[in-house]
Amino acid sequence: MKIKRRDFLKAAAGGGALLAAQGPGQALARGEKKALPPNAKGILYDSTLCIGCQSCMVGCKKANNMPVESTERLQLWDNPRDLSGKTLNVIKKYENGAAARKDQATDGYSFVKRHCMHCIDPSCVTACPVSALTKDPETGVVAYNKDACIGCRYCQIACPFNIPKFQWDSPTPEIVKCQLCNHLLVKGGISACCSSCPTGASLFGPVELLLAEAKRRLTLTPGSYQDFPVSSIGAGFPPQFQSHQVATYVPHVYGENEVGGTQVLLMAGVGFNLLGMPDLPPDSFVKLADGIQYAIYKGMVYPLVVLGALIYMIRRGDDHFGKKE
Ligand code: SF4
Ligand code: SF4
Ligand code: SF4
Repeated sequence: MKIKRRDFLKAAAGGGALLAAQGPGQALARGEKKALPPNAKGILYDSTLCIGCQSCMVGCKKANNMPVESTERLQLWDNPRDLSGKTLNVIKKYENGAAARKDQATDGYSFVKRHCMHCIDPSCVTACPVSALTKDPETGVVAYNKDACIGCRYCQIACPFNIPKFQWDSPTPEIVKCQLCNHLLVKGGISACCSSCPTGASLFGPVELLLAEAKRRLTLTPGSYQDFPVSSIGAGFPPQFQSHQVATYVPHVYGENEVGGTQVLLMAGVGFNLLGMPDLPPDSFVKLADGIQYAIYKGMVYPLVVLGALIYMIRRGDDHFGKKE
C-alpha cells in the first residue's frame, strides 16, 4: 500500500513527540506489532446488524452528559451529521442509487458507527506534548485529562481517523472524544452504546474475544439464520443472543491490522472505503514516523537536504505519496 501525503504528515506529527521523548532507535522492528494490553477492552461494530436506530448515540449522550446537538437540517435522520465538540459517537449512512437493499454497494445502503478506535499504538497519545491523552496499560482505553490539556490540538492532526474534536464555542475548550465509557468500566459496567444497542450491532468485550467472534461470523453461511450475542461477551454478564439472517460480509475485519491494530473492530457488507473508513497501512503512524525520523537522525545525514526533498515531493504530489487531495 502506498502511503498518502496526508498520512505521511500525520505520521510525522504522531512520531515527533515520541522521538523527542525517547530518542531515535527505540522503534519497533519492521513487521513487529505492539501487543494488546493484558486486559484490553473494545467494541465490535457489525454494520450488517445495525438498523440505524441511533439508540447508541442517545445512550452515549446520556452516559457522558453531552448536550443535544442540532446541526443544519433540523429533525432529519442524519442530524448531527458528524462527530463534534458535543457528539462522541455518530451513526452515518451510505446510500447508492435506489438505496433499496441493505448491505449492498449498488442500489443499496449501509450504516457505519464512528467514534474513537482506541488504537493499540495511538498517535494521539504520542503527539500530545503534555500527556493529556494516555493509554491505560491494562485495558488499553485511550483517555483524556482536561486538566493537563494545553489546547495545542496536536492530537487532532495526528489521529488517522480524524476523531478528536475541539470545543471551539466554549470559553474553556476541551478536546472531545470517546473514552470507551471508562467511568462505567471502572465500576464493572460496559460502554453505554453497547448496552443501548437493541440488535447486538455494537458489542462490548475483551478485544481477543471480539476478534474471535468477528472471525466466526466470516465463516457463517450468508442467508442462514444464526444466533448473535447482544450487548457484551466475556464481560461478566449473562449471555444474551438474538437470531439474525447472516449477510454477505466483506471478508475483512477492519481494525485488526490497520495502523498497528485498534481495539474497536468493524464488520460490514459493503467496502469500508464506501463507509468512509480510511485505507491505512498496517504499521502504526507512531512506528512509521519513528522509522522516518530515525533514518533522518541516524548519523545526522544531511537532515536539511532530506527535509527539502520531502517538501519538494509533497508539493508536487509525487506518486509515492499518493495524489494531492
Ligand atoms: S482513533 Fe485517533 S483519537 Fe482514538 S486512539 Fe486512535 S489516534 Fe487516538
Ligand atoms: S464507548 Fe461510551 S463514549 Fe464511546 S461511543 Fe460508546 S457510549 Fe459513547
Ligand atoms: S443502537 Fe445499534 S442498531 Fe441502533 S444505530 Fe446504534 S449500533 Fe445501530
